[in-house]
Amino acid sequence: MLSVDEARARIIAAFTPLAAETVSVVDALGRVLAEDLIARLSQPPAAVSAMDGYAVRAADVAKVPTTLTMIGVAPAGGAFDGTVQAGQCVRIFTGGPVPQGADAIVIQEDTSADGNRITIRESSPAGRHVRPAGLDFKAGDVGLKAGRVLGVRDIGLAAAMNHPWLKVRRKPRVAILATGDEVVLPGEPIGANQIVSSNGISLAAFVRAWGGEPVQLGVAPDSVSALQQLAAGARNADLLVTSGGVSVGEHDLVRSALGAKGLAIDFWQIAMRPGKPLMFGRIGETPVLGLPGNPVSSLVCALIFLRAALAAMLGMASAPPPINAALGRDLPANDRRQDYLRATLTSDGQGRSVATPFDRQDSSMLATLARANCLIVRPPGAPPARAGETVEVIELSGSIVTL
Ligand code: AMP
Ligand code: MG
Repeated sequence: MLSVDEARARIIAAFTPLAAETVSVVDALGRVLAEDLIARLSQPPAAVSAMDGYAVRAADVAKVPTTLTMIGVAPAGGAFDGTVQAGQCVRIFTGGPVPQGADAIVIQEDTSADGNRITIRESSPAGRHVRPAGLDFKAGDVGLKAGRVLGVRDIGLAAAMNHPWLKVRRKPRVAILATGDEVVLPGEPIGANQIVSSNGISLAAFVRAWGGEPVQLGVAPDSVSALQQLAAGARNADLLVTSGGVSVGEHDLVRSALGAKGLAIDFWQIAMRPGKPLMFGRIGETPVLGLPGNPVSSLVCALIFLRAALAAMLGMASAPPPINAALGRDLPANDRRQDYLRATLTSDGQGRSVATPFDRQDSSMLATLARANCLIVRPPGAPPARAGETVEVIELSGSIVTL
């Protein structure tokens, strides 16, 4: 059986970044930048005031109180074209360009005006409340790097750098095919021994959350012809993902049904729990990822392998490395499969994270996966572990792009 790392490396190697497309910066949230984004201008374009007040010569206000003559106004978006001479000042507003000759701002609250005679009550050293040109960024700066998932703040920065359009990776189209005689879609009539199909739906949500475009092919019963017919819908997809039907039972027909349609299997079965029957191959140009049917196996394998495939197509770095946490309770020795244990990650109040696995880890138990906020990763052959020992943990944070 292949190790998790080897399986993942083989999956990543099977993909190249998709072509770029151009989208409005307004619609770019969650998209992945296809090229470095260079500032098209400097921000601010010239030295501007950070406050409402008066632009002065610092030397003139070294001793206060003192009275200066106001010779003009510099609003944001406007400018005072003259030069401030000794004994003079210019009324200025936040964002207004600092006029020639002035080198400091006195805030309005420290002044009083009598016509154009302005009494200054506080001194202001050179540079105070002045934003120099290019303080935020300079024309030519790389503001955002290729491969970045654009979050709310990035959208603001891209717009500020004067980019109305952005080059982003095309969203990977992922066709999703659930299988099984026993599964029906939520809300459909359900027989006594049937269950609701959650995999197709959770996998579509997963694909969307990680930057792809899901294409639902539906649920195929365990029949070769039905599997072949529905799988044909993946022809224009960048990846076909199946759930269920890849294990060793007589009803596990995905490999044979797709095999008759030219599926070339790269590997099948990996040293992982949950998720041993994972399959990866290719039909013609279309890569095929066969995920196990148990809902937890399906989603944990999605996190480890489908996410890697999506990242490769999006030209992104793969998953962040696991973090360390203290084990919340004793664990027995592990066998030869890499284990992913649903667990809760809490703080011990002294800055240390503690990961406590749920007692029951059956791969059908979706409710514990929803309650978990991390997975403890136990390598193959790990010896018994005591509470307090350090373990590797993958955080199950929300993947929705927020601030
Ligand atoms: P299989 O790999 O097809 O033998 O499926 C393993 C287990 O996962 C069985 O108990 C199936 O009922 C269950 N299962 C398969 N597909 C789904 C699905 N789409 N939604 C929920 N459970 C499923
Ligand atoms: Mg099945």
